[in-house]
Amino acid sequence: MLAEQYPYAHAELDFRNPFELLVATVLSAQTTDVRVNQVTPVLFARYPDARSLSEANLTDIEEIIRPTGFFRAKAKSLHTLSQRIVDEFDGVVPGTLAELVTLPGVGRKTANVVLGNAFGVPGITVDTHFGRLAKRFGWTASDDPVVVERDVMELFEPRDWTMLSHRVVFHGRRVCLARRPACGACAVATLCPSFGEGETDPAKAQKLLRFELAPGKEALHAEMLANTDNAAAIRQRTESDAAGVSP
Ligand code: SF4
Repeated sequence: MLAEQYPYAHAELDFRNPFELLVATVLSAQTTDVRVNQVTPVLFARYPDARSLSEANLTDIEEIIRPTGFFRAKAKSLHTLSQRIVDEFDGVVPGTLAELVTLPGVGRKTANVVLGNAFGVPGITVDTHFGRLAKRFGWTASDDPVVVERDVMELFEPRDWTMLSHRVVFHGRRVCLARRPACGACAVATLCPSFGEGETDPAKAQKLLRFELAPGKEALHAEMLANTDNAAAIRQRTESDAAGVSP
């Protein structure tokens, strides 16, 4: 049902290869994907790979990534990360979970994002939205991301893991919100054991919906449904117009 609701779900960070996705994921901490997507074209035009970034001047990196916040710490992380990739992996981002988590600042969540989206290796990405919804759906009883990941992996086929991650996160950002889920306007309400945790009145719930599902955004939603392969670009365009709020 989530696949029907969000046929256009996708990775929300822009990237062209594993290195770019790894860097973008590091930059995405404590900020919106839109902001990251605004700075990465400049960063990658100047430093297209781990080798060039490892040799970059720290102050130059800081200046470029400043809009993403915590720019000093992030610049240092990217520098160290790139150096390690050059020293230990000959400048190429490794393609296994075991190797990725040895990189500084790369935990299971980041590693799974990179594996699932840049290497095509199935993975469940447990961020705050996924963890919350997995509990509400009754897929897990745990708050520990590693346990959530393991519990959900047992319920679904590996081929579905990456897209499932995107769809659940999309649902968490638009409908099953942290404080006030819009149960009365939720496509999976009949299947959800937590129905009633949020607003059940359909008209009131409708008003809680976000982004392309929000009242007044019908044209945007229709455009994304009609152009599922291009939905990321459509979303980026409208969010940039709306001063950078990321779904
Ligand atoms: S019914 Fe409510 S709690 Fe369940 S998924 Fe929908 S919005 Fe979330």
